[in-house]
Amino acid sequence: MADSRRQIPGTGWLLDSPELADSVSQLGQPIVKDAIQRVQERARRGEISATHVLEAVLATLPPTTTRLCRVLNGTGILLHTNLGRAPLSDAAIEALRQAASTTDLELDLDTGDRGVRGLAVREALSRTVPTAEAAHMVNNGAAALALAATALAAGREIVLARGELVEIGDGFRVPDLLESTGARLREVGMTNRVHLDDYRSAVGPDTAFILKVHPSNFVVSGFTSAVSVEALRGLDVPVVVDTGSGLLRPDSALPHEPDAQSLLAQGASLVTCSGDKLLGGPQAGLLLGRADIVRSLRKHPLARALRADKLTFAALEATLRGPEAPTSRMLHQSPERLMHRANRLADDLAAAGVPAVAETSAAAVGGGGAPGVTLSSAAVTLPERYAKSLRTGDPPVLAHVAQSRCRIDLFAIAERDDEILRTAVLAAR
Ligand SMILES: *Cc1c(COP(=O)(O)O)cnc(C)c1O
Repeated sequence: MADSRRQIPGTGWLLDSPELADSVSQLGQPIVKDAIQRVQERARRGEISATHVLEAVLATLPPTTTRLCRVLNGTGILLHTNLGRAPLSDAAIEALRQAASTTDLELDLDTGDRGVRGLAVREALSRTVPTAEAAHMVNNGAAALALAATALAAGREIVLARGELVEIGDGFRVPDLLESTGARLREVGMTNRVHLDDYRSAVGPDTAFILKVHPSNFVVSGFTSAVSVEALRGLDVPVVVDTGSGLLRPDSALPHEPDAQSLLAQGASLVTCSGDKLLGGPQAGLLLGRADIVRSLRKHPLARALRADKLTFAALEATLRGPEAPTSRMLHQSPERLMHRANRLADDLAAAGVPAVAETSAAAVGGGGAPGVTLSSAAVTLPERYAKSLRTGDPPVLAHVAQSRCRIDLFAIAERDDEILRTAVLAAR
């Protein structure tokens, strides 16, 4: 035993071995060293023989330097927060590559003078949302709301309907965020109903703005009423709308989802939303609306702490100006095409001996958008035991388990990935 332990190749010798040279240059020494040490440990425990150490290191090296990995989204939830929400378009991915080096982020190449950070995104937003006089971008939707509350309402009041005191997810509550900025909340109405008079009697000299929060992840039905932006604009205080979901313009697939263009046309002073929900871009927070308000947001010291990075600017600009993003494409795909893909996959898998069945399915937008809306979809279903091996496969496939079946909904998987999916299922047998 002691002898065979002594034969385990040393770390230095392994790191210098020609077999590992490519890995060291691609992954860097620390990652390779880490893999070496874990394999040496196994050899010391007698789990593998000393002669197989190099082979085992090669087999256990990770494919990349990041632990984040691509996951196929078979959950039937288009925007899944745990899966990083919207997948980027090819144009946005290419923009990320460009922006990754040194860029003209804050440089005017014509004059050589300092340029305006994010100017191109502002212009792209203005073209997409003509009713917005100005636009500003921050880190995410919550940051957009925090900036608006801090810059416009610190020490003053935000008037908000009780039915819109929303918890977004993972314990994140909009009212807590607002109060953390030093603004006071003035709740009006009841859980199910609020009237214009409720707002009218709450608004006073201390009111900074009325906030409407889109109930983006639940539906209230029955004896309900809310007050429109058009009615609220008559109260002579700014109306800020947190739409969350990030639809910039009306979308025929989601007729009840609020959009920035329409809300601003109805008289909202400011609309905030996320970049990585229905807009289909990178994580970002957008603030669109009145020029004077946006200017005061930009000038507030907190804006510097919430500012977006060059990668986000690049990916968002490409999402706004380039070809339709995957999220929007998927939202408008036909159920017939989805069923065709499910049948084709199930037939191929069945021919290889996998008990796969094609079924109709119901997908959802998820991730803070279009609650209660069902999207006609199709799924490939398998015995439940497949779920775990798919989730731990390469690439991992996240499915939905229901009624003892592992359901891979195709709604949020691009058709060009069907072959990867087929291979992943075969490997999960
Ligand atoms: C998602 C959401 C947010 C938070 O946006 P993030 O980009 O996740 O920070 C805020 N408000 C509403 C209504 C949302 O749906």
